[in-house]
Amino acid sequence: MPTLKPKLAMYWAASCGGCEIALANINEALLEVDAHFDFMFCPCLLDTKRADIEALPDKAIFLTLFNGALRTEENLEMAELLRRKSQLFVAFGACAASGGIPALANQHGIGHVLETVFRTSASADNPQELIPGATSPVPGGELELPAFLQRVLAVHEAVTVDYTMPGCPPEPEQIVAVIRHIASGKPLPENGTLLGCT
Ligand code: SF4
Repeated sequence: MPTLKPKLAMYWAASCGGCEIALANINEALLEVDAHFDFMFCPCLLDTKRADIEALPDKAIFLTLFNGALRTEENLEMAELLRRKSQLFVAFGACAASGGIPALANQHGIGHVLETVFRTSASADNPQELIPGATSPVPGGELELPAFLQRVLAVHEAVTVDYTMPGCPPEPEQIVAVIRHIASGKPLPENGTLLGCT
């Protein structure tokens, strides 16, 4: 029987993963999240696929917490998709809100970024010379990495953001307060920022 709880999604774009860790760090309050929401999309935790999201009617997801900046065409496509499918779309954390650390790459041209990251940096280990935007042979088949955008975007530069949750990452107490506030049905602040909704 389908759940009647409002759907909750979390997505990472150009992200370090710390925002997902912050959600995990709310510990037992995750049970409250489960009590109030159908947590149905989170690529690092759940097996829901992009195709499952594409199959939903528009606005079928009640709340999306979108973390990370937009570095690749795939990041951009997912922001557009989740915006379309969500009633409330939240830029979660500094990278989503303002570009954060990934946007430091915007101080350099895209050619320099690709050359450094995929070829010349001391940590580059790329014998097949894989480059975003190209299909490259790999053992057992081919791999296509999503193309980089010309510059890293904050999420609001690409889609309409309803609310921003500041922090790198947002603090667990802040996340719990916001989740409780939204679950209670109380009005959300009018300034577009979710600090704790108190
Ligand atoms: Fe990581 Fe901070 Fe960006 Fe979240 S806001 S993805 S914790 S760097």
